[in-house]
Amino acid sequence: MDSIRATISRRSFLASTAALTAGAVSLAASIGTIGASRGLAWDVSGEEKTLGFALVGIGNLSMGQLLPAFAKCKTARPVALVSGHPEKAKQQAEKYGIDPKYIYNYENFDSIKDNPAIDVVYVVLPNGMHAEYTIRAAQAGKHVLCEKPMANTVEDCQAMIDACKSANRKLMIGYRLRYEPMTQKAIALAHSAEDVGDIKQITAEAGFNAGNPDQWRLNRKLAGGGSLMDMGIYALNAVRYLSGQEPTEVSAVSYSTPGDPRFKEVEETIAFELRFASGIVASCLSTYGFNCNRFRLYGTEGQLESEPFQAYQGNRLGQVHARSRQQVSYEPVNHFAAEMDDFCQCIFGDKLSLTSGEEGLKDLKVMMAAYESARAGKAIKIG
Ligand code: NAD
Repeated sequence: MDSIRATISRRSFLASTAALTAGAVSLAASIGTIGASRGLAWDVSGEEKTLGFALVGIGNLSMGQLLPAFAKCKTARPVALVSGHPEKAKQQAEKYGIDPKYIYNYENFDSIKDNPAIDVVYVVLPNGMHAEYTIRAAQAGKHVLCEKPMANTVEDCQAMIDACKSANRKLMIGYRLRYEPMTQKAIALAHSAEDVGDIKQITAEAGFNAGNPDQWRLNRKLAGGGSLMDMGIYALNAVRYLSGQEPTEVSAVSYSTPGDPRFKEVEETIAFELRFASGIVASCLSTYGFNCNRFRLYGTEGQLESEPFQAYQGNRLGQVHARSRQQVSYEPVNHFAAEMDDFCQCIFGDKLSLTSGEEGLKDLKVMMAAYESARAGKAIKIG
């Protein structure tokens, strides 16, 4: 845990409050309530309030990014793990100071309802398992942060939203880029009449060379599709957040290298064109065949270009304006820590997340329409 938490002034304020006599406790309690309702991460004791996270699925993202990111969090902390591999879970629990009593497996997962230390369940499983674990977590009374893509189908997304609503729990989808400053600067510039003007065209590409043919990302049931579900979602989401508009129609073509054993069930590459009511056209591509990671946005007054735009770190943003090109500077943050802390603030402040379930559902609708377009060989309206 780092030390940037501005608790000193809160502590001294609450200490002086506590010095008041009989009414002190109830006054402090009401101050704590006000703090929470305004989204401030502190409670009546003057200690900053934190929320306990349970990670479900301890694969590459959990071990490589999420567990280390908690060290940079102000309000989120890891308290439980859910895994089918007890030895791995034990080792990770030890590494990150998680009580081994709070290691669960997929069978006893629902008993998290009896563990008040768990406030949030972070679903970090293959895409095809997101809906089931989100719904079970909400039914256990926990808030849910679910990785992208939200689920394999529009119906599953809706069921996740409904389950969280009826349990009165918050739902966030893990669109980490929305919580880091480079993407936020790109959005601000894209919406600036002076810097960009009217947006006319956006191109966005995301992909990598997928290795092992046996991985779940190449299994239709677990992944929901190929590169579009995993990487195309970054391109699509970028077009939506940069334009601030929703596409009305999509045309897509998908293709895979003939005979490549990796692509028996899912597509290697998909190119999709999105059209908007305002006249913007966006050309997107995702692939499991080669590395690509960039967007370019053309406006009547200027352009933005970013490469890479969705790496965990080292993303770069350039601005082209009146024939000059300049690098946009920003103070980097840990994307996952920023995302998890933001979710805590939504919970404290009873606010809808910027990347709520409804936001995840919008991407799913477009991706499903892109698949339909590729199958049917014609443009599909997005309803
Ligand atoms: P991974 O394969 O490394 O880990 C998946 C975990 O799920 C493993 O612990 C595995 O044991 C467990 N699991 C449980 N049942 C399984 C089953 N039937 N088949 C396969 N694994 C099973 O995957 P990952 O890269 O950690 O991805 C997990 C999720 O996170 C995916 O939804 C992915 O899209 C998302 N992700 C997001 C980002 C991001 O930047 N936001 C980056 C990577 C992955």
